[in-house]
Amino acid sequence: MLYFSFFHLLVEDVFTISELKPELCFIMQGDYVWLDLKTGREFDVPVGAVVKLCDSGQIQVLDDEGREHWISPQNATNIKPMHPTSIHGVEDMIRLGDLNEAGILRNLLIRYNEHVIYTYTGSILVAVNPYQLLPIYTPDQIRLYTNKKIGELPPHIFAIADNCYFNMQRNNKDQCCIISGESGAGKTESTKLILQFLAAISGQHSWIEQQVLEATPILEAFGNAKTIRNDNSSRFGKYIDIHFNKRGAIEGAKIEQYLLEKSRVCRQASDERNYHVFYCMLKGMAPEMKAKLGLGLATDYSYLTMGNCTACDGRDDLRDYSSILSAMKVLMFTETESWEISKLLAAILHMGNLRFEGTINCTRAGCFCIVEPKDVMVCLTTRTLITRGESVATPLSVEQGLDVRDAFVKGIYGRLFVWIVDKINAAIFRPPSCESNLVRRSIGLLDIFGFENFIVNSFEQLCINFANENLQQFFVRHVFKLEQEEYNLEDISWQHIEFTDNQDALDMIANKPMNIISLIDEESKFPKGTDATMLYKLNSQHKLNSNYIRPKNSYETQFGIQHFAGVVHYETRGFLEKNRDSLHTDIIQLVHSSKNKFIKQIFQADVAMGVETRKRSPTLSSQFKRSLEMLMRTLSVCQPFFVRCIKPNELKKPLLFDRALCVRQLRYSGMMETIRIRRAGYPIRYTFAEFVERYRVLMPGIKPAHIQEDLRGTCRQIVLARLGKYDDWQIGKTKIFLKDHHDMQLEIERDKAI
Ligand code: ADP
Ligand code: MG
Repeated sequence: MLYFSFFHLLVEDVFTISELKPELCFIMQGDYVWLDLKTGREFDVPVGAVVKLCDSGQIQVLDDEGREHWISPQNATNIKPMHPTSIHGVEDMIRLGDLNEAGILRNLLIRYNEHVIYTYTGSILVAVNPYQLLPIYTPDQIRLYTNKKIGELPPHIFAIADNCYFNMQRNNKDQCCIISGESGAGKTESTKLILQFLAAISGQHSWIEQQVLEATPILEAFGNAKTIRNDNSSRFGKYIDIHFNKRGAIEGAKIEQYLLEKSRVCRQASDERNYHVFYCMLKGMAPEMKAKLGLGLATDYSYLTMGNCTACDGRDDLRDYSSILSAMKVLMFTETESWEISKLLAAILHMGNLRFEGTINCTRAGCFCIVEPKDVMVCLTTRTLITRGESVATPLSVEQGLDVRDAFVKGIYGRLFVWIVDKINAAIFRPPSCESNLVRRSIGLLDIFGFENFIVNSFEQLCINFANENLQQFFVRHVFKLEQEEYNLEDISWQHIEFTDNQDALDMIANKPMNIISLIDEESKFPKGTDATMLYKLNSQHKLNSNYIRPKNSYETQFGIQHFAGVVHYETRGFLEKNRDSLHTDIIQLVHSSKNKFIKQIFQADVAMGVETRKRSPTLSSQFKRSLEMLMRTLSVCQPFFVRCIKPNELKKPLLFDRALCVRQLRYSGMMETIRIRRAGYPIRYTFAEFVERYRVLMPGIKPAHIQEDLRGTCRQIVLARLGKYDDWQIGKTKIFLKDHHDMQLEIERDKAI
């Protein structure tokens, strides 16, 4: 046994005064401690350890990573006793005694090592990607979690889904579930699990439920791809709004998509693939159909091989192809439509293989299927310019020709994706009838690209990170701002909790006059605008903003933004071009002249627009900004649930927990502050009338709310009787404030009483 002197402990300031319980100053063999290795690295936090030996003046400990350390009493201040709640972990992190990053991290770690991937922070679910199939999503589990209160059973994604559903009905209010995390953290899988749960509990395996579920394989085929971070990475964002009728059965749904990564169709980084659908088609399509389209193997196509990777471990392209086809049938794609889609995909592949040898030479011209080969050649070798009302054809270099081709291909794929989502919506969206509109409720699931910070970041990353700033602000507003404002308004006793607010960064990006997005947009429309003039304007406008990082010198083409999740540097070359996102008139003409009805249909909006209006067609960032605003408005009228997905390692491996990687994700998502506020706060609140109406069954003789004179008094009477005087509830001016566990307790008693 070893005794640490108070003096020692205070000198190093490892302990806070309240933790200096004398009994914890004795450390014995078998005790659990925190070991601070003081590496000074940004994302290192103290590691948990167990004391193996504790005599002869030395302590030997074994840390959570399996490493042994010898510690002499002189630097024993690196050791701190562990609170009992951290030894075996807790289901709800607001119960952690050691409320610091080390405590949170270890809690997730020890659960993860036991294949327990879900943990609560109040009602916020933290999900650590297991990278392996766990037997916890069976129909039995669905039944188990149906109609349970949060906290009644171990944390689970199904519990969140069940609560969304229950709250929707209990409060007659729309719900939303915001699923966030980095690429590969498990957002899309979580979304699918929630959808699966809702479909299971809402009804009787109806056709519409089936249709809503079958939208996923189609969206994933056309919008997901293998990347180095995730073998099934969603390259678009989505919001699925599921509609329920008054009996609580799924009545329809609507899918909103955001910002598909079009560049992937033409280019893939090393070890990455193009969209799944291409590989599936080449593996799964019947040989005679392939012959008609002149198709071969994936390895034959330049557009499919840039990442040097055509197969993906763990994916079965052949099997997936038949799922895609059957899902298309369920969603009412006709045979002709499916075939037309295949023709477009084939045309894209052939176009990628066009050889330019001084002049254009398309060897498989006959297989274009959709546009006349000779028209394509004209389009890729010359450009029409209109000068003083006269059109003049100027020749294009081979390089320019290839750029035109790639722009055309991206244009086709992007529009095809939008068309497919529209087609799915046509099958699953039922406009509300006047009568059902009054009672129809919805649950929205947001699965949107997480924060991105690559070696080179471009316009797409700016849009993605802008979206994440919005979502973070929504979270901050909901969890910190509105909550604390309400406590003040209601005059309950409350100690303000500090939090990191990203409003300033968001204002700089998109809200204040002359914000970054608007400057980029303005420059995109300005005929003489270039990436360099844009950067100049950004610098002069924002150089004094602490969230803006100027280029180091005038040669530098990058600017940086201090995002809530870290600094990201953006390479401005290509910004304007990407933002304009416009196709040259020649290409639109080409489509216009095509005999193929389908390609005309997906380009309908472009063809309908005259040359002049097309010049003024909305830029990518303005469209994206508008759809984000709409999304934020939708979310703001819902009761939100939050799921924070954590990626435990970069290797997509089970049971591998990269501490620094996890600390970074926890820190940037504001997890510490979240736990602190959830612990101190009162997530459940009712107006006095609501509370009396709901819980008067718990006390005989209480009259209905509308004939009560002293509602506040009656509320007090009920909580005193049911929760007791010393429990931590509060009564404000118009509302009663409760903890999550109170809600659970009252609800269980209410279930028994009625
Ligand atoms: P994100 O959408 O956040 O980029 P995904 O949801 O696509 O990430 O998850 C990436 C991969 O991780 C999945 O393809 C799957 O292999 C694995 N994964 C994620 N969540 C789970 C889970 N709950 N159970 C098993 N594997 C999972
Ligand atoms: Mg995803």
